[in-house]
Amino acid sequence: MLDTLRRIVQEVNSASDLREALNLMAHRVREAMGTEVCSIYLLDEAEPKYVLMASEGLKPEAVGHVSLKLSEGLVGQVGLREEPVNLEDAFSHPRFHYLAETGEDPFHAFLGVPVIHQGLVFGVLVVQQREARRFDESEVAFLVTISAQLSAVVAHARATGGLHNLEENREHNRASFFTGLAGAPGAAIGTGVLLFPPAELNAVPDRPADDVEDEVQRLEAAVEQARTEIRDLGERARDSLGVEEQALFDVYLRMLDQHALAGEMVERIRDGNWAQGALRQVIQDHVGTFERMEDNYLRERAADVRDLGRRILARLQSNNRREPDYPESCILLGDEITTPMLMEVPRERIAAIATTRGSRNSHMAIVARAMGIPTVVGLQGAPLKKLDDSELILDGFRGRLIANATPELRQQFEDIIEEEKTLLAGLEKWRDDPSETLDGVRIQLQVNTGLMTDIQRSRERGAEGVGLYRTEIPFMVRDRFPSEEEQRAIYREQLEGFAPHPVTMRTLDVGGDKELSYFPIDEENPFLGWRGIRLTLDHPEIFMVQVRAMLKAAEGLDNLRIMLPMVTTVFEAEEAQHLIHRAWLEVRDEGVDVSMPPVGVMVEVPAAVWQARAFAQRVDFLSVGTNDLTQYLLAVDRNNQQVAELYNAYHPAVLHALVHVVEQAHEEGKPAGICGEMAGDPGCALLLLAMGYDSLSMNASQLLKVKAALRQHRILFARQLLNEVLAMDNGQVIASYMDLQMRKAGLGDLIRQAG
Ligand code: PEP
Ligand code: MG
Repeated sequence: MLDTLRRIVQEVNSASDLREALNLMAHRVREAMGTEVCSIYLLDEAEPKYVLMASEGLKPEAVGHVSLKLSEGLVGQVGLREEPVNLEDAFSHPRFHYLAETGEDPFHAFLGVPVIHQGLVFGVLVVQQREARRFDESEVAFLVTISAQLSAVVAHARATGGLHNLEENREHNRASFFTGLAGAPGAAIGTGVLLFPPAELNAVPDRPADDVEDEVQRLEAAVEQARTEIRDLGERARDSLGVEEQALFDVYLRMLDQHALAGEMVERIRDGNWAQGALRQVIQDHVGTFERMEDNYLRERAADVRDLGRRILARLQSNNRREPDYPESCILLGDEITTPMLMEVPRERIAAIATTRGSRNSHMAIVARAMGIPTVVGLQGAPLKKLDDSELILDGFRGRLIANATPELRQQFEDIIEEEKTLLAGLEKWRDDPSETLDGVRIQLQVNTGLMTDIQRSRERGAEGVGLYRTEIPFMVRDRFPSEEEQRAIYREQLEGFAPHPVTMRTLDVGGDKELSYFPIDEENPFLGWRGIRLTLDHPEIFMVQVRAMLKAAEGLDNLRIMLPMVTTVFEAEEAQHLIHRAWLEVRDEGVDVSMPPVGVMVEVPAAVWQARAFAQRVDFLSVGTNDLTQYLLAVDRNNQQVAELYNAYHPAVLHALVHVVEQAHEEGKPAGICGEMAGDPGCALLLLAMGYDSLSMNASQLLKVKAALRQHRILFARQLLNEVLAMDNGQVIASYMDLQMRKAGLGDLIRQAG
C-alpha cells in the first residue's frame, strides 16, 4: 500500500497542471482501490459550490459541469461534517441527491472524504462501487491519506494561481484578487517584476526572447561550459569511481548533446521563450518523465537531469549579468525576496513588494517597512510567473494584490494613494513638536534604522535618535564580513547623522531568519538556536571588531549606546560587558578619545522578562524586542504564515510581560524602551505610554502617526485603555476593542484599512 501511495503522490506531483494532477489521481485511486468510480469535487468559493473536477467512472461530459451546493447531497454532507462518510447504500441515505448527468444510478457503496488544508475544506474525494458494501478501515485510511496529499496539491495550485483563472478574468474584464498579510502599509500601482533567486530552476519565469539568435548563443555557451565542467568532474572521479558510475558521465555528456536536451532547448527559444525559460521547460519535462518511470534506477535519474539543468542555469545567469531594465514603478514579486535581492533594485523604482512566503514580522517585511515600501507577504493564490510584467495594484493596508483591475477599482486606489499623501503631509505639522500628551506627559520617539537612507527619512520626521540600529543589515548586503575600518565608516555616518541624539547600536544579530551568505548556519530549529549574542560570544573576534569599530566611530560625538540581542542569562550580559570594556580600553590605548558608552540588553525571550530586575541591576537600560518576545511567549514562529493569526502582540501574556519589565527596570532606576514593531502602532503606543515606557523606537514611516496619536490625547485616556485591556483575557477581543477605541477617538485614519 505504501508503495502504491508513494507512486501516486510522485506522479501527481510531477503533473504539469492541476487538471492533469486531478485526472491522474482519480485514475490511480480507482485502480488502487478496485472501485468503479473515483471523483474529485473542488470548492468554487465564488458561488459557493462543489464542482466535479475529475472523475473516472462517471460520464466524462459531467466533469466541469455538474456541481452541488455546499449543503447538497452526500458530497455536501462530507464537506459540512469535515469527516469521512462511508455508506453501504447511498440511495437509501436521506441526503442522497440524484444527479442524472453523472450516470451514477448503478453505484450503491459510497465513501467520501473531505480535502482539507489548514482547517479549510477545499473539496471532497469520493469513491463509489456498484455492489452494496461498507468500505473497510484500511480503505478509509488509504483514501484519507490520499486526500491529505491532494489537499497539498490543491493548496499549491491555489498558491500558484492554478485555480484562479487569470486569463478568464481578463477576458471578462474581471479583477483578480490575491490575498495575503499586510506587511507594510500603503498602496501602489505599478508593473509586476518577478525576482527569483539565482540557480533555482523552478522559479524561472517564461519571458519573451528579445533577440532569438542572442538567446540561442547564450544557451549554447552555457551548455558548452556545463559540458566542460562535467568532463572535468569525470576526469577527477576516474580513480575513485567504478566503471558503472564513470559511464554516467558519458550519459550526461550525451544528454547535453545538440541532438538531445540542448537541441530541444534551442527549439523552445525559436518558439519565442528566452533561454532561461526554455531551459526550465525542457528540464521539467524530462524530470517528469523520469519520475514517472516504474524502474527505481531510472526514476533516480530525474535528479541527474535536474542537476544538469541547475548547472546550465548557473552558467546562463552568471554569463548574463546585464543590468536588468526595471520599469518606473515596480511591484516586486517573489516567493521570497531577501534583503540583498531587494538592494539590487534602485530604491526610486520600487513601488511595492509582494511575496508568497514570510509573514508580518519576518525580516524582509521589517526592512520594507523601514524603507516605507507598501508590502504584502504570505500571498495566496498569486501566479507570480503570470503576473510578471503586468499592471498590478498592491494594497498593503489589507494585504491584497490585484490584477486586471477595472478602471473604477484603479480610480479608487488612485484616490487612496492621494489621500495617504495628504494624510502624511498633514502629519508634518507635528514634526518639531515634542512627543507628549495633551497634558504634557513625554515619551521619547526614536527610529529603527539599518540603511543609510534611513538617516534622511528619520530626520525629516523629527526622530529623537535611534532606538535600534540593526547592524546586521550592512553585514547582509556584503559577501564577506566588513572590516573594522569599513564598519567604523558606516557607523560614523549613523552617529553623525543623529548627533547629539543617541544612537543605539545593536551588536550583530544573525541566526534565526537572518542569514549571512558567507557565514551559513545550518540548524534544525534556528529560532531556538545559535543566534544573536550566543553566536557573537562564541566568536569574540567578530564581536570585538564590531565593538571597536563602534567605539572609534563615536569619537568626539559620544552619542553611542550599545545593545545586546537575544540575551537569556545574566552571564551573557556580563561576558559581553566585559568584552566591551576591554575593547574600550584597547581603543583608548590607541588614542581614541571616547567615553565608555551605556550598555543595555534587549528583552526578547521569556527568561529575560522574569529576570528583568537582575538585568536592570547590571546594565544601563532595557529595550524590549516585542517581535521576538511575542514569538517566544506565544510559541508562534514569526515567519510562519500558517500560524500568523496566532501571532498577536495584544495577547494578555505579552501585555502583562511588558508591564512587568518596565516596573522592574524602574525599580532599579533604569530606563526601559520598546523597539519591536509594536512601538509603531498608534494604539499600542498609547498602551506602552500608560505602562510607563520611556522610549518607543519604530520605523520612520510610523513616527508621525504615533506622535499624532499621543499629542491628541491625555494620559488619563491611555491609562483607562490600559486598565481595561489588562482586565481582558482574550488577545483577539483586545485587538478588536483597541481598533474600535482608536476609531472612536478619531484616530481611524492613522490605522487605515484601504478599499
Ligand atoms: C525584536 O525582536 O523585536 C527586534 C526589534 O529585533 P528583530 O526584529 O531585528 O529581531
Ligand atoms: Mg529580535
